[in-house]
Amino acid sequence: MILVHTVDDLREKVAAARRAGEKIGMVPTMGALHEGHLSLVRRSQLQCAVTVVSIFVNPTQFGPTEDFARYPRTLESDVEMLAGMENACAKIIVFAPSVEQMYPAGFSTFVEPGTAARVLEGERRPGHFRGVATVVLKLFLMAELDIAFFGQKDFQQVAVVRQMVRELNVPTEIVSCPIIREPDGLAMSSRNRYLSSEARGKAPVLYESLQIAQRLIAAGQREATVIRDEIFRVLTSVEGLRVDYVALAHPETLAPVGEIVGEVAILLAVWLENTRLIDNCVVTL
Ligand code: AMP
Repeated sequence: MILVHTVDDLREKVAAARRAGEKIGMVPTMGALHEGHLSLVRRSQLQCAVTVVSIFVNPTQFGPTEDFARYPRTLESDVEMLAGMENACAKIIVFAPSVEQMYPAGFSTFVEPGTAARVLEGERRPGHFRGVATVVLKLFLMAELDIAFFGQKDFQQVAVVRQMVRELNVPTEIVSCPIIREPDGLAMSSRNRYLSSEARGKAPVLYESLQIAQRLIAAGQREATVIRDEIFRVLTSVEGLRVDYVALAHPETLAPVGEIVGEVAILLAVWLENTRLIDNCVVTL
């Protein structure tokens, strides 16, 4: 495994792999790695001889009142986990740049993401997807890669990145990978470690509410408002939980859905204590 900290070093290592005819995959992360991240790395290793795993807590995607300062930074153990995953046919390059590497003094160029970024998370976290789109495009241009792997956990992020790649003609394939969950259903997240044991005990309700919604649809319910109301009811029955949003949306455009026909994404965000949790599922009729 190779650990690099500068853009020049990353370019050099990736260019050497390309010259050797190797396919390059990338898994962008903010570190504090868990099984969710590792599943993306494994997925990349199936297809790509070299996987670049970026570990960068990207300041431009955090709002002024968000958790940038307290976001967990565990580079040493992250690197250790990744070292254990490497094999001769599936090498790993870890790219862990400093903020100054990514955003040198005076940095002022940003990607303005498209319509998929303007609803849900985008409405509640102004500037978030502008930061995401900017850092993702920078990473794509630094590494000259073939495929990038993202988690469905951040459903809207994948939609925003897909739209950017399509509309800016970025020659990178985007692959979305399934959500990895704890045994009780809570989607794995670096932010779960913020939860007190009491809040952690309540957190599986997110997934439970999505499962109830899926069952309603399977039983024939097609009215988005009915399903949304039921998810709200289940979530708000938990003391101390505050719903940020529950939405039924078109899986690509994220436009709100009234009546369910074909595929629908159900997305939700809640606050438990001071921690914001998100989850989602896609239902296909
Ligand atoms: P993050 O470090 O939170 O920015 O996440 C890096 C990548 O890992 C993103 O593409 C996430 O969607 C993905 N990811 C995070 N948690 C999970 C999970 N529980 N299952 C699958 N992918 C995940």
